[in-house]
Amino acid sequence: MEVDKMDENDWKYHGEGNKSLVVSHVQLSRVLRLLKYPAEDSENPPQTAEQAFRQIQNIVDFSSNVMSSLLGEKFIHSGEVVKLPLEFVRQLSIKVQHQRPVWRCDKVMDIYSGCALCLPNLTSPGLHQQTHTPPLCIEIKPKCGFLPSPKHVSKDIKTKVCRFCMHQHYKVANGKWKRRSLYCPLDLFSGNRQRMHFAIRHLIEEPQNNFKIFKGGQCIYSSKEGSDDSLDLNSLLHHLRPYFLYGNNRINGHMTSKALLSDFIQVLVNALLSGGGGGEVTDRRGEGRSFCEASLYNKERIRHGSQGLPSDSVLFRILQTQMLDSLDIEGLYPLYCRVEQHLQDFPKERTRLQIDGPYNEAFLEKLQKCSTEDDGSVEFAAAKVHQYRVAMTAKDCSIMVALVPSGEEEDDDEGLSAQRRLFRPPAFSCSVSILDLDPKPFDSIPRQLRLDQKIVSCYLRTGSLPK
Ligand code: ATP
Ligand code: ZN
Ligand code: MG
Ligand code: MG
Repeated sequence: MEVDKMDENDWKYHGEGNKSLVVSHVQLSRVLRLLKYPAEDSENPPQTAEQAFRQIQNIVDFSSNVMSSLLGEKFIHSGEVVKLPLEFVRQLSIKVQHQRPVWRCDKVMDIYSGCALCLPNLTSPGLHQQTHTPPLCIEIKPKCGFLPSPKHVSKDIKTKVCRFCMHQHYKVANGKWKRRSLYCPLDLFSGNRQRMHFAIRHLIEEPQNNFKIFKGGQCIYSSKEGSDDSLDLNSLLHHLRPYFLYGNNRINGHMTSKALLSDFIQVLVNALLSGGGGGEVTDRRGEGRSFCEASLYNKERIRHGSQGLPSDSVLFRILQTQMLDSLDIEGLYPLYCRVEQHLQDFPKERTRLQIDGPYNEAFLEKLQKCSTEDDGSVEFAAAKVHQYRVAMTAKDCSIMVALVPSGEEEDDDEGLSAQRRLFRPPAFSCSVSILDLDPKPFDSIPRQLRLDQKIVSCYLRTGSLPK
């Protein structure tokens, strides 16, 4: 990709989140991730080109030096900052505007800095080696998979109902979504296949911004509000069917929709539990903190079946990193205030404490070597804040599971008996990545506390009412 010969016709709209807009190359397996900012500021950008460059470089450093070490290098693609011609960016923004979902248009794409993050396109792995059947990629934004410890929270409900489930009530009460999602992250992170299956079924039913499916790099399934493609389970099943021709539950050569969906979820569960090596299954410490009372999963069934995640699985690594938030926002906030006060008294300390980076080995060391005892120092407080921010990133990241159909060799098929062909399980080679690993700003912590209070009080008013 030659940066000085960029042509907007080679790029198309791919997707967006709250902070960035992503375009993909029509031939190469590449995406550009561009910053967004509030539409009110569209005339005067909130930062200079140099600041935008710094911000994206910080994202790359945070991902490659901090998150990759915590989550496992094999899952991470940090990408690189690129400087693009402004004319290209302007044309691109005009080109993609009409494809953007309306509910995301409170923000505009940055067309002033010319900076972007260039990443491999994780939804079209090996675009070059065209197979008969394009790869299927499933994106899951799992959110927080554990309950906070009772030691640090002021409201008992926070130790019983998980943050995601409480937040659902808040989002519906505030009109963000029309329906509540019955997905519960604690089920997904349980390591129990049945519970994980249950969680993914609810992600499919109400994807919101937690679930998307791509086929050959195109989004074919996501929430109605979140995409121009409409949410249609039948059309999803139609897309999936060719991938699961050899399912086990066929009746007279036809696979029922239920069996098809179940096979698909099974493949996904396998990918989420796989780790390459045969990592041992860890017994979850704090057993009592891994079940959410709001989950509709039958509690009686939890007592049976295995608990815990293989230690080399993507879910285990994400959960471990999320758990660096050991104090909950309520326990952390006083430490944030200690740092904040110190910075007001000694503004120059901001650099030494690495509040806004640089995100290098020294930063990682600060948060990993943090003592368990509070010695009253600003260093301890800053390290806890660093840990909390890293955990926030792990609570907000997405997992991309790429399934590339394998065993497509037709001549091999000829040799198989009809019987064997019928019962052959779907064969995929799968690869798992983690994306969206931006550092969360230091100043966002007071907002986190206020949001937490609003969510909890909303839940206490509306959520715990008998159904
Ligand atoms: P959020 O609101 O979740 O914080 P964000 O604004 O930080 O999102 P991303 O999640 O990084 O942005 O990107 C938005 C979407 O673009 C993703 O949900 C994903 O569908 C797509 N995307 C991002 N990076 C890649 C990639 N490397 N390959 C393929 N698709 C990608
Ligand atoms: Zn829950
Ligand atoms: Mg995202
Ligand atoms: Mg993000």
